[in-house]
Amino acid sequence: MEIECDECKQKFQNKKLLGIHLKSNHIKAFCGACKKEFKNKELLKEHVQNYHLIDTDNT
Ligand SMILES: [Zn+2]
Ligand SMILES: [Zn+2]
Repeated sequence: MEIECDECKQKFQNKKLLGIHLKSNHIKAFCGACKKEFKNKELLKEHVQNYHLIDTDNT
């Protein structure tokens, strides 16, 4: 049974291959605080501002 990538509809023979594909093609950013993965740095930035409220401009 093939597994389809939600992002680009490409098909893979197993979860491991899909995982490698996701990491190299769709996951570009990673939150160090909660280990959540994001498709790009902008989404990660938004996430950090909304969920972690890290204030780095105040130094
Ligand atoms: Zn994909
Ligand atoms: Zn986070």
